Amino acid sequence: MRSALIQYIYILKQLDMPNNYSCPECKSKMNVGNSLVFSAKSPDNERGLIFLDTELGNYTKTTHPEFELQEGVEYKFYCPVCHFKLNKEENFHLVKVHMTDENGKEVEINISNIIGEYCTYKIQEKKVEAFGPDAKRYSNYLDVPDEYRKYL
Ligand SMILES: [Zn+2]
Repeated sequence: MRSALIQYIYILKQLDMPNNYSCPECKSKMNVGNSLVFSAKSPDNERGLIFLDTELGNYTKTTHPEFELQEGVEYKFYCPVCHFKLNKEENFHLVKVHMTDENGKEVEINISNIIGEYCTYKIQEKKVEAFGPDAKRYSNYLDVPDEYRKYL
């Protein structure tokens, strides 16, 4: 009886979660609780998991204390499920995941691969929404004619 209630509360919490993130390659869900989970690697080959807040524009990151993120350093980001590299081929600085928003619409999300650089882009067919204090950084790259948007 008690476990059924706990399960019910758990389902309610899941429903309450506005944004669902998934890997563009294997389609596995990448968010657990309020965190978007990445597997990451520094240029010095330090590897670990990064928990990033699922709220767009919130840059709270949690890692294991032994996996210390270095400010200003570029990391490689991977899907924690299939290990597909999420840094874009055509722009290594941008990390790509898919997101299903509260209306069930799938959009592309890009974040910076540089620790301490705060920018997020929500990319839909004809529109790019930018979040974060460093949002201007890649706006020139993302501001391209529509016919090229599909290659982003
Ligand atoms: Zn994957």
